[in-house]
Amino acid sequence: MTSVELQIPESDKALQEKARQFMTRHLLPLESQFLAGASLPDDSVKTLRAMLAAAGLDRPQIPGSLGGRCPGFLSQCLVQDELSYSVVGTELCLEENLQLLRQHATVAQEERFVRPMAHGKLHSCFALTEPDAGSDIQSIRATAVHCGSYYSLSGYKAYVRGLSGAGVVLVVARTDTGDEQGLTVWLVDRNDPGLRVAADRRLLSVERVFDLALSDCRLPPERMLGGPGQGPAIVASRLRSAEIFSAARCNGMARRCLDLALQQVQRRCAFGGPLSQLQIVQHQLAERATELHAARLLVVAAASHLDSGQQADAQVAVAKTHAAETARRVADTTVQLHGAQGCVVGTAPEFLYRSSRLGLIANVPTELHRVQIAEAILDRLGGSAG
Ligand SMILES: Cc1cc2nc3c(=O)[nH]c(=O)nc-3n(C[C@H](O)[C@H](O)[C@H](O)COP(=O)(O)OP(=O)(O)OC[C@H]3O[C@@H](n4cnc5c(N)ncnc54)[C@H](O)[C@@H]3O)c2cc1C
Repeated sequence: MTSVELQIPESDKALQEKARQFMTRHLLPLESQFLAGASLPDDSVKTLRAMLAAAGLDRPQIPGSLGGRCPGFLSQCLVQDELSYSVVGTELCLEENLQLLRQHATVAQEERFVRPMAHGKLHSCFALTEPDAGSDIQSIRATAVHCGSYYSLSGYKAYVRGLSGAGVVLVVARTDTGDEQGLTVWLVDRNDPGLRVAADRRLLSVERVFDLALSDCRLPPERMLGGPGQGPAIVASRLRSAEIFSAARCNGMARRCLDLALQQVQRRCAFGGPLSQLQIVQHQLAERATELHAARLLVVAAASHLDSGQQADAQVAVAKTHAAETARRVADTTVQLHGAQGCVVGTAPEFLYRSSRLGLIANVPTELHRVQIAEAILDRLGGSAG
């Protein structure tokens, strides 16, 4: 592999190496099967997730109190980067809600949800988006109405990633009764009456997502995560971690694209020699390699900031925007340098070209991140973006 090694602590290097070996041994060999069908059977995904958990690669942030270690964001980013080098890795949703639940769960919620999640026995997913409410979460229409001893949840959630195999869904809804106002987050069991899968789709033929319909789904107050109105803070925290992991996945994809491009230009001959001897090709590769190296450094910096407990919203925004845009550019260059071969459906360049588009929209679109970055720099200069 051609990418520059990162300066990271020795303990993280060991985890990174473990993830790399896992990817090489278990994911790369499945790629032709994956690309031929544009996915893996649910059973294979389940088996891989169990193997990742057994290897200590899924949920490496198991808290000490639950019998695990707590290495944090940087470690998890390194794992995501390594696994996403393989196109199969892009299909594997690692557990990304554990840290969030640890912060907000009550003792009873910890027993019921966090402990089994920490031990790989329970998976979760996050249902925030609605058909008419994406980036603007204040437009959310799903409701949680207080009816005496229980809350009744109704609404429609869209594009939920990682639902296959998830036993608990974190649902964001609006509570508007009496003193209880604002967005709240709910722990909905997959088997709770009133929750059903309404659609199963693929985004750009790559990412499997589901729509969920909630209809008078009755939950006791104990299923509320945090208090009434704490939804925006919980969502912000969830998006922060989803975005840094997404940036790391973009970097993994971009590394793979760059390697594919390098192999291609050395193999393919035109006009009397390999493409790699053409200066214009060398310049493209040099630019993409530089952008990718910067993207990886930005992820390490933002993840380290998060691990040290510092406010890192703008750093996460910078890292995600740069990583997503870099993955897109590297994938584009890779297809270009493969010529028609790179456009064949079912090949790695073509898959990565489609897949790399999603990072610019998923969780937080790049435009919103730019707003965040502008606000942060203007604040620092004593100005205002508004
Ligand atoms: C791969 C993938 C996985 C996803 N997984 C999940 C999931 O697990 N759970 C979940 O709940 N949701 C999920 N989503 C949905 C995702 O979080 C939303 O797509 C995202 O919040 C953007 O919302 P939207 O798509 O409704 O776009 P909108 O909010 O409608 O925005 C559309 C476009 O308008 C522009 N725009 C919007 N606001 C602004 C602004 N303020 N300034 C400038 N331009 C703006 C941007 O170009 C933006 O892309 C997923 C999406 C993708 C692509």
